[in-house]
Amino acid sequence: MNYRIGFGIDFHQLVEGRDLWVGGVKIPFAKGSMGHSDADVLLHAICDALLGALALGDIGKHFPNTDSAYKNIDSKILLERTFSLIKERKYTVVNVDSTICLENPKIKNYVSAMQEGIAKILSVTPEDISIKATTTEKMGFIGREEGLAAYATVLLERK
Ligand SMILES: [Zn+2]
Repeated sequence: MNYRIGFGIDFHQLVEGRDLWVGGVKIPFAKGSMGHSDADVLLHAICDALLGALALGDIGKHFPNTDSAYKNIDSKILLERTFSLIKERKYTVVNVDSTICLENPKIKNYVSAMQEGIAKILSVTPEDISIKATTTEKMGFIGREEGLAAYATVLLERK
């Protein structure tokens, strides 16, 4: 079998006094993601999808939030390290499809920068990285701007 599919999901609280990092891009906003690392919800979902595709566990197993080494770490480094685990097993990324779920701010102006940065890390082109966004129509914790979520699916091919 030459192909493996993986799925990832992540959530973070939105709080004052933190930066908002999504997809490797810092987005100007009154609140930011709460977490041990930079709390980049999209990069974490993609990491989990990559790990899931090869049944390697989850991001918490590889980068525990009890380890001070990961305090405020740039999640692009976590994505690079996750991708190394994939490459070691002779897999490459075919494509990523993802959705960010948040009420505010609007992120459409940042999507191309996210695609470029993620594509570079995963050795694909920006066209291979799909990033969509939705709200929850003001319902629930996302609608109340208490938090945000991201979902990601990846396809890997063994070379
Ligand atoms: Zn996370």
